[in-house]
Amino acid sequence: MQEWINQLQNIVNTKEKLEKFINISPEEMEAISSMKTKWGTTPYFASLMEPDDPNCPIRKQVIPNRLEQQNCYGLQDYLIFKENRAVGEKRPDCIARQYHDRIAFTVTDICAIYCRHCFRKELVVDQDLALRFDLNEGLDWIREHSEVRDVLITGGDPFILSDDKLDRIITELRRIPHIQMIRFGTRTPIVLPQRITPELMEILGDFHRVPIWINTQCNHPNELTEQTAEAVFNLLKCGINVGNQAVLLKGINDDVETFRHLHQKLLSVRIRPYYVFYCEPAPGIDHFRTPVEKGAELIRDALRGHTTGLAQPMYVIATNIGKIPLMPDYYIQEKNESEYILRNYKGQTTTLPVIRD
Ligand SMILES: *Cc1c(COP(=O)(O)O)cnc(C)c1O
Ligand code: SF4
Repeated sequence: MQEWINQLQNIVNTKEKLEKFINISPEEMEAISSMKTKWGTTPYFASLMEPDDPNCPIRKQVIPNRLEQQNCYGLQDYLIFKENRAVGEKRPDCIARQYHDRIAFTVTDICAIYCRHCFRKELVVDQDLALRFDLNEGLDWIREHSEVRDVLITGGDPFILSDDKLDRIITELRRIPHIQMIRFGTRTPIVLPQRITPELMEILGDFHRVPIWINTQCNHPNELTEQTAEAVFNLLKCGINVGNQAVLLKGINDDVETFRHLHQKLLSVRIRPYYVFYCEPAPGIDHFRTPVEKGAELIRDALRGHTTGLAQPMYVIATNIGKIPLMPDYYIQEKNESEYILRNYKGQTTTLPVIRD
């Protein structure tokens, strides 16, 4: 049996299985036994947990917390609102649209980790949303919409699908003349690097008019291992660039040190930081959320100027009207008749003449 399938069949989702990896804290134990919620991850990812530290950033992403039952700020039916499912043009359930030229195509609700902070929790964790993920319906819709040039395949985790299904989706999309690029959002390079098999590399590997791009999700430097480095290298060998979409998570990556280390370490395994998302107002994840300003402060204090330019993600919030940048705005300190006064990361200033149109 292939190791990635073995990993999925042995998913760590019970107290007994979790005990093989960590000493479960009383709070964790209480949450696991009292809450009816889907949780779990691969044995590989569970092996990265700190056995004796309940504050471990990986434990917090995997193990349910009683705080999920409190909800002050989260919006019910968040996903319906966020993905504009109730308004506007008629679309199949698997197609989410916020832009003219690109769409998100949801192909499964299964994951290799059920992230406690997931904004799609209502769909993938609680399974409250009965949506149909019909590949043919989605592909037909895309064929009929010639303005769509970029298809972002998402889930759940699309790399949980079999090689045959992935092959079919890629082949069908590449046959559509108006499709210029295919993107996958998958956490497998982080939580299930074994998924990047020689067979999958074969499917992804050919040079083609329509390139494939991948964005993964890594939120803390402890998630990055040799295995991930190798999986990413193998994807690059197939001509696929790998980016990261982190989520700003309170108590996990919202301090200067961790935030900088995360972005430096991503580059060291050849993953290019793309976005840092503000943790969205989905229900039951209040305890992961910071003030909006926090992310901009971290970019200012941990990244811009402080480390490699390639390590700089764009800080955004994903909303029902698209992604909105929330980057720090200290750079242009002042503008007068004749010049701009520009500020750098150290607080030093310089000037630039104003050019009139
Ligand atoms: C995030 C998202 C996209 C892609 O946005 P980019 O900024 O191009 O990465 C497209 N469609 C939907 C519905 C999305 O949520
Ligand atoms: S892998 Fe993605 S879709 Fe699945 S639970 Fe985590 S954040 Fe949500």
